Amino acid sequence: MAVVSAYSDKTDEQKAITEMVRQFADEQILPNAEHYDHEDEYPEPIVEQMKELGLFGVTIPEEYGGMGLDLTTYTMIVEELSRGWISISGIVNTHFIGSYLLMKFGTEDQKQRFLPRMATGEIRASFSLSEPEVGSDVQGIKSTARKLDDGAWEINGQKMWVTNGLMSGLCFVLVKTDTTADPAYKGMTCFIAEKEPGVGENTGEWAGFTVPPKIKKMGYKGVESTELIFDGYRCPAQNILGGEEDGVGQGFVQMMDALEVGRVNVAARGVGIAQRALELALRYAQERKTFGRQIAQHQAIQFKLADMATQIDAARLMTLRAARMKDAGERSDLEAGMAKLFASETGKECVEQSFRIHGGYGYSKEYEIERLYRDAPLLLIGEGTSEIQRMVIGKKLLARHKI
Ligand SMILES: Cc1cc2nc3c(=O)[nH]c(=O)nc-3n(C[C@H](O)[C@H](O)[C@H](O)COP(=O)(O)OP(=O)(O)OC[C@H]3O[C@@H](n4cnc5c(N)ncnc54)[C@H](O)[C@@H]3O)c2cc1C
Repeated sequence: MAVVSAYSDKTDEQKAITEMVRQFADEQILPNAEHYDHEDEYPEPIVEQMKELGLFGVTIPEEYGGMGLDLTTYTMIVEELSRGWISISGIVNTHFIGSYLLMKFGTEDQKQRFLPRMATGEIRASFSLSEPEVGSDVQGIKSTARKLDDGAWEINGQKMWVTNGLMSGLCFVLVKTDTTADPAYKGMTCFIAEKEPGVGENTGEWAGFTVPPKIKKMGYKGVESTELIFDGYRCPAQNILGGEEDGVGQGFVQMMDALEVGRVNVAARGVGIAQRALELALRYAQERKTFGRQIAQHQAIQFKLADMATQIDAARLMTLRAARMKDAGERSDLEAGMAKLFASETGKECVEQSFRIHGGYGYSKEYEIERLYRDAPLLLIGEGTSEIQRMVIGKKLLARHKI
């Protein structure tokens, strides 16, 4: 068995897989990102290649057709994909959260029905908490589900900002099944809502599940973010995550658990985009000359590069530490929150510094940094804003150091 000696070291398997993904990013993602970003078009050919590489089944156990790799290896892969384009990691991200929910809380029947097809990428997953009036305050959601006489459940309500909302075939959707519950989280349940991928108006057994046209965004293009409208959508009881008996009322706890690993995943995305920003800055700083020498020779520019590299190193170490603690079965909620906060802010900061180093050309669409500048802010928002991370970190700190 390979042994790692430091937080940044990789096993032979991790080296092989991250090198493979880096090559994929260099050859398939980076040369095509500009086109898909400009057109805001779903990068179908890239997704097809990701299926072939098995990237949708990285963390799914081998018995269900996946690779069975740990969170640490997954974060290394996400860093490489995000270095290429964070929209590509966005296509994998919600799928990863969906498969985590199934692996951790799903019944055996649910695992058998969904995981093998998820491992190949044949069906992909989204997850939906946010609503038009609610993001951070998840317990304030208004969507509901009620049990019908025939035993099925009917979902009604409107969801917002669902990444992969159109192209997914499964949506893990959080709704209230008891609107009077106090505290509210005890009345929340997660449903596995099935639908036709790529179809706006579902019919037949999935009637009542509508995906309106995608939301127009400043960045994070290619991957769609949509509303979802549930209007009398019937969901069989067997699609309650964890089963009807054990799953009703457990949705909030299940989703918060998934968001914890999701935070490590977002942290890895921050490291990936920051790494790319540094690479672009290092190159440009040695190409551009002012006052008779490369701008890289000006101390002010070197200081920017030094700060970026230092922040990226720290963000990567924090991210890997949180992932390794989780893999080792240790409690890592505090570390995951810290990694998400620091790495996403590092992503934004490094992109900003690289943009400045590019001078006027950073403002031109001819240069890749312009896309990164529009993409990076998303990481400050998704899976808990920086303010919410600080709240989480503060609460966990006090809980761990109670006097
Ligand atoms: C591109 C994109 C993709 C997304 N994908 C998904 C997805 O796939 N699934 C999903 O469910 N959601 C998704 N989201 C939604 C995202 O999780 C929310 O936008 C986020 O949680 C913030 O919620 P909000 O936008 O409603 O902001 P609000 O909750 O309204 O917050 C507004 C501001 O107030 C601050 N704030 C809120 N409460 C406090 C407080 N107590 N103390 C201090 N400050 C506070 C926030 O930090 C923020 O700055 C996505 C969002 C975007 C932009």
